[in-house]
Amino acid sequence: MTYEEHYLDWVRDAYAMEKQAESILEKMAGRLEHYPDLKARIQQHIAETQQQQNMVQSVIDRYDTSSSVVKDTLGKLAAQGQAIAGMMAEDEVVKGAMSGYVFEQLEIASYTSLIAAAELIGDEEGARIFTAIREQEVAMAEWLITHLPAVTEQFLVRSAAPGVEAKK
Ligand code: MG
Ligand code: FE
Repeated sequence: MTYEEHYLDWVRDAYAMEKQAESILEKMAGRLEHYPDLKARIQQHIAETQQQQNMVQSVIDRYDTSSSVVKDTLGKLAAQGQAIAGMMAEDEVVKGAMSGYVFEQLEIASYTSLIAAAELIGDEEGARIFTAIREQEVAMAEWLITHLPAVTEQFLVRSAAPGVEAKK
């Protein structure tokens, strides 16, 4: 395979990843009731994720003449599975915040690799786009890990109180 063929594959993977991200974040935000700060930050990142999809799509459009929806569909199915698994947990909000952090790390690694590939094939526009997206992923990861102790404490406090819902 050529550099360009691998590059296009990886950009498509990034697009599928962002579709999956949107699906997971929508489900989390839609279920959260008692954690307004977390919910607001997730909603902000949903908007960022939708912009990221458009930016990634613009790179695909420059390198791709055909169109593929296969990975998109697979990504959505995987996301639904993960969201459903999370809802089963009694400590859903804590597990969700942790999974969210892990997912952001996957995104950071993906864009770090994509930036290197973009530079190697001379796609300066792509490198610029993926660098901008990576900054948003780093900011989201930082927010989640910084607020994880508070989310944990709020969950424990609510969980110990009689008749108070803690999980979401
Ligand atoms: Mg993203
Ligand atoms: Fe993200």
